[in-house]
Amino acid sequence: MKEKFYADSMLGKLTKWLRLMGFSVEYATSDLSDRDIIQRCKDHDLLLITRDKELAVRYRKSLYMESDNHVDQMRSFTAKFKPDPKLYFSRCPLCNGQVNRVSTPDYEGQLPEGVRIRQNVVYVCGECGKVYWEGSHFQAILKKLNQINQENGK
Ligand SMILES: [Zn+2]
Repeated sequence: MKEKFYADSMLGKLTKWLRLMGFSVEYATSDLSDRDIIQRCKDHDLLLITRDKELAVRYRKSLYMESDNHVDQMRSFTAKFKPDPKLYFSRCPLCNGQVNRVSTPDYEGQLPEGVRIRQNVVYVCGECGKVYWEGSHFQAILKKLNQINQENGK
């Protein structure tokens, strides 16, 4: 996926989910003006995702989100931009950094004992250093992503 995105401050939940699907999504802080947001999108060739209809009209490359529900938003986003399951979990939901697979014995930071025993690999964010692993939370996320993907495939 070459396209990069910029989500407005009303789309925090959607931003996290899109990053989990591997989309590159910057997130606007609420202190930015409309003008700042548009300028940043232009400078970095970003596609704006917004809940603000006026803003969507002012910037040509934008995707207006009608619903304020993040699942509906994910549906309408993925109807336009098809997610690639190979890219799932390749980005950090917190900071948009690239996440790397690291073999657990090679990981030098602290891990809970159970994780060290049960997991062969962990996923480490190259930007903020947050560590992820395939626990039950991971399975729940995957299920939700697949569900949304399937609905759009029909
Ligand atoms: Zn991160």
